[in-house]
Amino acid sequence: MQIYDTAVIGAGINGCSCAYFLKEAGQKVVLIDREGIASGGSGAAGAFISPKFTKGGPLKELLEEAYRFSLDFYTQNFPGQIQRARLLQIANSDENALRLNAFKETTTLPFSEDISDVEPLLTPYAKACASIVLEEGGVVDAQAMCKALAAGIDLKNEQVGTLAYSDGIWQAGSVKAKRVILATGSYDFVVEMPYLKLRRVWGHRIDVKTSTKVPFSIHHHLSVSPSSDDGTVAIGATHDLRFDPFGDESYDYEAGREELLQKALKSVRLEDVEVLRDYTGLRSGSNDYLPIAGRVVDASGSLARGLDLINIKKIGDEQFVYYPELYMINGSGGYGFVFAPYLAKQLSDHICKGQALDPELSPSRFFKRWAKKRAQA
Ligand SMILES: Cc1cc2nc3c(=O)[nH]c(=O)nc-3n(C[C@H](O)[C@H](O)[C@H](O)COP(=O)(O)OP(=O)(O)OC[C@H]3O[C@@H](n4cnc5c(N)ncnc54)[C@H](O)[C@@H]3O)c2cc1C
Repeated sequence: MQIYDTAVIGAGINGCSCAYFLKEAGQKVVLIDREGIASGGSGAAGAFISPKFTKGGPLKELLEEAYRFSLDFYTQNFPGQIQRARLLQIANSDENALRLNAFKETTTLPFSEDISDVEPLLTPYAKACASIVLEEGGVVDAQAMCKALAAGIDLKNEQVGTLAYSDGIWQAGSVKAKRVILATGSYDFVVEMPYLKLRRVWGHRIDVKTSTKVPFSIHHHLSVSPSSDDGTVAIGATHDLRFDPFGDESYDYEAGREELLQKALKSVRLEDVEVLRDYTGLRSGSNDYLPIAGRVVDASGSLARGLDLINIKKIGDEQFVYYPELYMINGSGGYGFVFAPYLAKQLSDHICKGQALDPELSPSRFFKRWAKKRAQA
């Protein structure tokens, strides 16, 4: 039976990006997905490549770096799956306007305040709000991009239940591999990680046909894409924290469409609108809003070490026990398409070239918080 260098569980944008970079680095890679490529949150995404319009902080800094990297990466390697366009961000509250103005003072990204190309399309309300135009932005064709990244990579359509490791090999469903990357998005973990809870947010995107030509990406109360060549515009995503697709309730598509259209029309005058398609899915975010990329801590093994968990801040990450050759990438919230290539390249460089990973993004940060609380209880 074939033994792969790396099995990537989850064929969303995170998993497909990891598989792409590892294959480029010469590894034998397999993608495993319960439903196929881009069947989770990635398949629903509007997939706007956007930074965070705020004053500062680690997420803003990281996103600015990831934004540059990923925009270049997609454009150079997959020009057919990205539409480049300027990006108009409009503040949707006074607080938001303050953050937007602070962003203008601190950002290194090229921007202007010239909305003349798009002004005739904006409602008086949208025109009256503070705004910024980024000269470089992009919207990815979410499903096509995942498929393009995964081209030429073995794909197994199966649900992985649990993982087993013996003699240096992981068994993941029917697959054997020396290493596993978990890129499972909002779905249940396949190894024990009691220290990590992800926030799952339901989203809805619609593609509409409209006679209005939209030249920019417009982000206000939601995101509106530039028109494609055939006049299609994507509108998404509404954020529904309450709806759980794994629960008993079914999703009300009509109400979701109505909400999306109403919010879009608050900002942009779209004429002759006809809804063509719906896309829905879950995205997963971390509690501290930073993405997660790194080695997976074995909680039981680490607790058994008898470390001084009350003073856990003083304990170096190298003192924890990690599952052997097990990595994860997750928790990018509404920025999965911005972060994925950037983080996947770092994971690949770590695995193939031994380059250090960013410790701030390690899953160990959650283990530390959880273990300290547990010790104090
Ligand atoms: C409506 C909507 C709009 C969005 N808009 C944007 C946007 O404009 N820009 C942006 O950057 N981001 C956006 N996002 C967020 C972005 O889509 C997510 O951050 C990203 O898709 C997360 O990718 P992922 O690969 O981690 O997860 P997913 O795409 O959910 O992939 C996880 C995959 O793992 C598979 N899987 C899970 N468990 C198992 C198992 N045990 N065995 C086998 N397979 C398994 C699932 O089938 C799934 O395909 C949006 C999200 C939504 C829902």
